[in-house]
Amino acid sequence: MEVVPTKTRIAILASPGMGHLIPVLELGRCFAVHHRFLVTIFVVTTDPSTAQSQLPHYSSYQDLLDIVFLPPVDVSDLATGLSILSQLVLLMRRAMPILRTEIAALKPRPSALVVDLFGNEALEIADDFGMLKYVFNTTNAWFLALTLYYPHHDEADKHDHVYLHKPLNIPGCAPLEYEGTLDLNLRPDDRLLHEDYAKMGLDMAKVDGILLNSWEGLEPKTLKALRDPNSMGRFSSVPIHPVGPLVRPVKPVGNSVCQSKVLDWLDLQPAGSVLYVSFGSGGTLPADQLAELAWGLELSQQRFVWVVRPPSEGSAFGSFFRQGKRTEDGTPDYLPDGFLSRTREVGLVVEMWAPQTQVLAHESVGGFLSHCGWNSTLESLVSGVPMICWPLYAEQGMNAAMLSDHLGMAARLREAGPGVVVGREVIEKMIRRVMEKDEEHGKLVKAKVKELKRSAEAALAKGGSSHGSLEQVAKECKTGLT
Ligand code: UDP
Repeated sequence: MEVVPTKTRIAILASPGMGHLIPVLELGRCFAVHHRFLVTIFVVTTDPSTAQSQLPHYSSYQDLLDIVFLPPVDVSDLATGLSILSQLVLLMRRAMPILRTEIAALKPRPSALVVDLFGNEALEIADDFGMLKYVFNTTNAWFLALTLYYPHHDEADKHDHVYLHKPLNIPGCAPLEYEGTLDLNLRPDDRLLHEDYAKMGLDMAKVDGILLNSWEGLEPKTLKALRDPNSMGRFSSVPIHPVGPLVRPVKPVGNSVCQSKVLDWLDLQPAGSVLYVSFGSGGTLPADQLAELAWGLELSQQRFVWVVRPPSEGSAFGSFFRQGKRTEDGTPDYLPDGFLSRTREVGLVVEMWAPQTQVLAHESVGGFLSHCGWNSTLESLVSGVPMICWPLYAEQGMNAAMLSDHLGMAARLREAGPGVVVGREVIEKMIRRVMEKDEEHGKLVKAKVKELKRSAEAALAKGGSSHGSLEQVAKECKTGLT
């Protein structure tokens, strides 16, 4: 009779960026808590201390998981002008020798290696050590479909999409408008970028399973197409396991309790009255757009919490290090003069970082103006908070299209886009549409998000689809594929 080990070790690899690390830690926590696995998380990052300091409850993850920050990779010699995706691919490639040494030293040897989106370089290591290999797609089934489809994308079709801006027709997804696909669109001539992205799709098609931070009830049509051998399934027959939504629990997982000025302020506000504004772990807007957003918030006369970062021209990422000047009332120089004093009664500006899951779960929060990163989206959804979509980069345009046009849980600022400055009146109107109690649109998105919240809870509960998917993967890791 086969002996089933009581403790199985798995290794999970996180690519750089909080948007990767956060769901990877959550996945690790589920394996450790629900399946009693020994879990080693390898993290590739250029800045371990920022990652640790920004994660609430980081120490409680440490109690459960073995978290190894690989030595920061030197990328100072990389050619300028490389896309973010190609930079990430090179960075990951350089981290592979040390990862191989680390995995070789683990006892017991992990039975499986799970890599996130940019970790495909590590799949070869799993092959060499005879480990099962999984990809954890930290975003949704639409993005997975695009990634698997892309290497097989007909050249004529690709040309029409990239140069004539025709929508992309991917089986199982709604037609993807040019503006609503990836920011790959913005760089049609970058060969390396297209090659790197196509390789991700081809590598992903050869693993033992794809875990997805989504669930059956959220994207049934896309998942059906992905599994159908006559549809998307012809590009990959890899089993797909939607295990989401995996988001950081609002209640601390250990003993640490998150204290915060934002939460204290929220305690004083009426239920559902506050708009939370944030553009993810690093995103920001150009200076003129930041100013218009400030005016839009002020004109809307709604309560708000705004996580603000200095503008960074020519990039969607804010600088964590810029120390700008301030006016007398403390307003940073990149916001309109006197903004803090004029909005003191109704708003709170938080610089750089807020405990987002706690904020979204607070009963005073009634809306989320977001860049539509997938973690932010899931966090909003599990808290039943409707969104206003303002996508910036990566797959966020696609997410925005899905959330507003297809799921109906969000309103979308269609005017937002590269090189466009959305005016204060447009922003004001959109905020009112979602936040004001008697607005029809607001009522619709609120009802829809509540319905999706219930569907997410059912998927995660014992006997639910995501619970079952994770159980299936855990079984494979314990006993091997049958
Ligand atoms: N986040 C946070 N506080 C902030 C900004 C972001 O806790 O002030 C967290 C947020 O809760 C989410 C993650 O950072 O879990 C951002 O991930 P997402 O996929 O939304 O966007 P990305 O940062 O990858 O663009």
